[in-house]
Amino acid sequence: MLSADVNCGKCGSVIYQMRMLKSIKDALRGTNFRCPVCGTALNPSDFAVSVAKR
Ligand SMILES: [Zn+2]
Repeated sequence: MLSADVNCGKCGSVIYQMRMLKSIKDALRGTNFRCPVCGTALNPSDFAVSVAKR
């Protein structure tokens, strides 16, 4: 299965795990565009997405 992890660019925590590829904005909407771990507001350049086949 193709999945993607969205990682906080500040603390590196996995913010969201996507089972299906969808837009990052949709994924982050559930966290109000903030990292739930460190509370950092996430701009498009502040997080990383890693895609892996599992
Ligand atoms: Zn964070």
